[in-house]
Amino acid sequence: MAKSKYEYVKQFELDDSLLPNTWLVVRIDGRGFHKFATAHGFTKPNDRPGLDLMNACAVAVMKDIQDVVLAYGESDEYSFVLHRSSNLYTRRASKIASTVVSLFAASYVFLWSRHFPEKTLQYPPCFDARVVCYPSDSNLRDYLCWRQADCHINNLYNTCFWEIVHSGRSEKEAEDELRGTVASEKNEMLFSRFGINYNAVPEMFRKGSVVVREEAEVTSLSAKTGLEVVRRKRIPTVLHVDIIGEEFWKSRPELLG
Ligand code: ATP
Ligand code: ATP
Ligand code: MG
Ligand code: MG
Ligand code: MG
Ligand code: MG
Repeated sequence: MAKSKYEYVKQFELDDSLLPNTWLVVRIDGRGFHKFATAHGFTKPNDRPGLDLMNACAVAVMKDIQDVVLAYGESDEYSFVLHRSSNLYTRRASKIASTVVSLFAASYVFLWSRHFPEKTLQYPPCFDARVVCYPSDSNLRDYLCWRQADCHINNLYNTCFWEIVHSGRSEKEAEDELRGTVASEKNEMLFSRFGINYNAVPEMFRKGSVVVREEAEVTSLSAKTGLEVVRRKRIPTVLHVDIIGEEFWKSRPELLG
């Protein structure tokens, strides 16, 4: 087909291909979710249906985009890891990040009523996205450790903060009281003042959520015979486990393979 005289504008599109043979991590984060959580009456510090919805969206992304080998989520963010061998959209950064984030945001709206049957979505939620290359397996693992450590630090702080507030103090007073405290002091405060053993706080809140493809038996009806067939399939599965230590990786050697 003959090219139109306007075709030259295509040259203004710059190449944004990501470095080959590196792990790709797309991190999405809710825009203004502090306000979004308030507008939708989220329980503080952790609204379970809100987190379940985030996890359901991550599963939806992994069902659609096979190149995602693992996802990790906490609060209003999710990180999607694409295998280093992935050639999705010839590794064009904007195509990859925009596809993941729009699929996630659309799923958030699509699945909202399933997780909040009694709450009307007040306005369209919005997420940003970035994609980063990690050259080595240890860089990738350190990235995931960074996010899980962030989840732990924030959750310990937020658990104390909201216990102080729920005990009748102002948010400013809670902030002042927690300034400069270390983890052991926060643990002690929760235990002695509020009767909370931090280790008994649900794992989803303390460790965040990991989605991996786990083998499971799936039963379906054969169109040919009408009989039940059982197949072993790899299904995106949400776990709340430690990903900093060796065990998670040792028991899943295929992840970094
Ligand atoms: P930005 O647009 O810069 O990301 P933000 O308001 O989204 O701003 P974040 O640093 O991303 O700020 O923090 C997300 C905030 O959303 C948390 O501080 C928390 O108040 C709220 N939030 C998200 N998910 C939940 C949840 N499941 N339960 C309770 N609060 C939540
Ligand atoms: P890709 O994922 O590569 O973008 P695509 O299937 O979306 O693939 P496009 O080149 O973006 O392909 O073209 C969009 C196609 O969607 C059109 O060819 C047309 O068939 C269909 N389409 C989009 N909007 C409409 C519409 N309003 N009415 C009818 N067809 C439409
Ligand atoms: Mg932010
Ligand atoms: Mg945010
Ligand atoms: Mg955030
Ligand atoms: Mg199209």
